[in-house]
Amino acid sequence: LKGEFSVIRRETGFVTGLVCVLTDVTEQEKTDQERRNFVSNVSHELRTPLTSLKSYSEALADGAWQDPNLAPQFIDVIQSESNRMIRMIANLLDLSKIDGGQIKLDKDYVNFKRIVNHILDRVEFTMASEDADKHYEIKRDFTSREIYVDIDQDRMTQVIDNLLNNAIKYSPDGGTITVSIRDNHQSVIFSVRDEGIGISQADMEHLFERFYRVDKARSREQGGSGLGLAISKEVVELHGGNIWVESVEGEGSVFNFELPYTSFDDIEEEWI
Ligand code: ADP
Repeated sequence: LKGEFSVIRRETGFVTGLVCVLTDVTEQEKTDQERRNFVSNVSHELRTPLTSLKSYSEALADGAWQDPNLAPQFIDVIQSESNRMIRMIANLLDLSKIDGGQIKLDKDYVNFKRIVNHILDRVEFTMASEDADKHYEIKRDFTSREIYVDIDQDRMTQVIDNLLNNAIKYSPDGGTITVSIRDNHQSVIFSVRDEGIGISQADMEHLFERFYRVDKARSREQGGSGLGLAISKEVVELHGGNIWVESVEGEGSVFNFELPYTSFDDIEEEWI
């Protein structure tokens, strides 16, 4: 609390009262602290790939370029680290637009099951074409009803991609990834269930914060930036929905989001 005192005096100079204004500055200090943390996180996160770029390019310049075994490996690191930086900067620009209220959703009524099927077909196709040593099975568990939602298709695709990529990234032994779509009269609930490493109760509370990662080294190794879930949360909330996680450490996680939805039957009833 911040306090300010003013003294009330008569014309004669006598003090007849005292006014004290107390302002609650907790919230403001919290935001200032968050901002400081954010800037320090950004600087740190950008410095890490830059340091790799610098040392690998120096090693190449010092002669490694002539080594047919080392050179391709070093160039590979340089490419993947610069791609990671580009992704991180794109994510940061997105977040800054969202914070500034500059993001306009380009919404349309779309068939939600069709969009999710498209995304899953693409993910399955990519998985099949990469000769990975892990194998995942994607199960689709959709409501039989047709679901039309009013969404920005590109932004929501970004959210669904994030959740699917995480389910794959954090499931070291492959396994089944179950994608479900359920509905009730007010909302549609989308879930991705994996059989991966799971998340502890303590970590779950912070998971949607910017740059929060349970295991920084592991996330980095997988090309992560710790911003995916923070952006997903903002995008879902911009759509009037919410996002949450349920998980058991060592068994797997379920990431869910809920979007407001009016069933076609209800809309028709209103029109009649
Ligand atoms: P990242 O780029 O690090 O994957 P995210 O914001 O997408 O960033 O996720 C934040 C952190 O949440 C991850 O680093 C990871 O520790 C944890 N996480 C996300 N999805 C899962 C999952 N399906 N299973 C276990 N941990 C997860």
